[in-house]
Amino acid sequence: MNESSLAVSHSYANAQREKICEIFRESYDEVRWQDWRWQMRHRLTRPEHFDALLRLTTAERRGLTLAQEKFSVAVTPHFAALIDTDDPHCPIRLQVVPREEELVVGPGDMVDPCGEDGHSVVPGLVHRYPDRVLLLALDTCAAYCRYCTRSRLVSQGELDPLPRRLDPIIAYLREHTEVRDVLLSGGDPLMMSDDRLDTLLGRLRTIKHIEFLRIGSRVPSFLPQRITPEMVKVLRKHRVWLSLHFNHPREITPEVETACDLLADGGIPMGSQTVLLKGINDDVPTLKGLFHALLKIRVRPYYLYQCDPVVGTAHLRTSIAKGIELIAGLRGHTSGYAVPTYVVDAPGGGGKVPIQAETISGYDNGVWSLRNWAGETYTYTDPTER
Ligand SMILES: *Cc1c(COP(=O)(O)O)cnc(C)c1O
Repeated sequence: MNESSLAVSHSYANAQREKICEIFRESYDEVRWQDWRWQMRHRLTRPEHFDALLRLTTAERRGLTLAQEKFSVAVTPHFAALIDTDDPHCPIRLQVVPREEELVVGPGDMVDPCGEDGHSVVPGLVHRYPDRVLLLALDTCAAYCRYCTRSRLVSQGELDPLPRRLDPIIAYLREHTEVRDVLLSGGDPLMMSDDRLDTLLGRLRTIKHIEFLRIGSRVPSFLPQRITPEMVKVLRKHRVWLSLHFNHPREITPEVETACDLLADGGIPMGSQTVLLKGINDDVPTLKGLFHALLKIRVRPYYLYQCDPVVGTAHLRTSIAKGIELIAGLRGHTSGYAVPTYVVDAPGGGGKVPIQAETISGYDNGVWSLRNWAGETYTYTDPTER
């Protein structure tokens, strides 16, 4: 794969934008297009919307009518404009357009693969690790990933509005002085208004033992226009870190670069999480292209996730052996900063387990045999104990 096949040409992208505007009987206007409110009002949600943009396959047509009832379908115009309309295997399309395979329940598929409900201490708060918690802020996103690990909650109305749940959450956190790290996720916390986000972060910041606040968000990929100087001000005020979500180098558009520049210049440290997905990013050139593109916009690849065994996602998952092979193709071959930790969120609530190819090939009497990135063996001798 070369650079040109990763990039969408400008004229092609503009033709796509015009086509999307036509679905809503509007003409393309650059200023309106770059307004996040316009983007949210013109999301592709109905089968007719997709039919007008793409040459749908039978599996997609069925997916769009049947999967819709199981888990919401929505794609922002920004993201939809990145789809190659003639290619049913387009890596952007596979992430957001449902297929009938979503209705298949494979062996080992689970509704709550990470066992979050079992570790829920009060509604909307998951406390699994000793010093950190996961706070589910809301259940909506700018667009819906077909492999969503929280499809049981997200867009389903299963999560009460935060104002109703917040007091018990704050009370729990005040009482649990061991919690020093709060990860806000959902849904996508950056779907909140600046004011609501400011209020929520402000309440968390009143708790003295909470040192570290981070937000997991796919807004920079799905709706980069939502990242505004006002939002950055709120994030900076509360010293928030961001964990973004990107899966393919084609997602790194000029708008995404602008959004990440605003964030990085505004002093917001950023990591990225990628889900390993079959036919989307399960090859070394695609992953390398993505991780290099992220470093260029000052986003550090943090985790590469083995896709959780959520019901109806078997068609998007690879084997763990594939993931190990891909990481081995990156480690040592490129900057360490460009190599995320490959993790499996252990089904049933075991938490994240890092996985990598064996690098220790032997140990004998204080001498370690180590395999390097090129497959050669070296030894390291421990200091003798006295
Ligand atoms: C991923 C996760 C965290 C954060 O884990 P880190 O490895 O610190 O990024 C915390 N709580 C839950 C329930 C999680 O799934």
